[in-house]
Amino acid sequence: MKKLSLPIGVMMTDVLKAFFSKPVTRRYPFERREAPERFRGKLVWDLTNCTGCQLCVRDCPAGALELVVVDKATKHFIMRFHADRCTYCSQCVMNCRFKCLAQVNEEWELASVSKEPFTIYYGRSEDVDAVRGIIVDDE
Ligand code: SF4
Ligand code: SF4
Repeated sequence: MKKLSLPIGVMMTDVLKAFFSKPVTRRYPFERREAPERFRGKLVWDLTNCTGCQLCVRDCPAGALELVVVDKATKHFIMRFHADRCTYCSQCVMNCRFKCLAQVNEEWELASVSKEPFTIYYGRSEDVDAVRGIIVDDE
């Protein structure tokens, strides 16, 4: 049978080298590094140009988006984003013709021990406050 262990001399050389070289790992989260510019972080929504067409909702393969129509005539919409369902594929970002959706590289540390932070509401604060209590959570 073939012997797989390293000769002791090679092993000791590696150990000594490791003692005197700088670590290749970072002390995250104490030392943070900026994410690349095009990193697909948290999804954000800007309602300014949203027409309520629902294309993003239909296109999302993960069912992570819901558009709540408060008043279509006055363009009052709310976007409910389920960050825990999102696969960060960016399909909705690419397909919105009005550039309402984006993925920000500054926000990517989205872990949480509870489910609550994963349901994110975007829209006018008065609309969000009004519908938040009446939307039944299906989770
Ligand atoms: S965000 Fe874009 S794709 Fe989604 S409903 Fe608004 S306009 Fe349509
Ligand atoms: S990034 Fe992909 S999975 Fe996430 S909401 Fe958009 S389409 Fe859905």
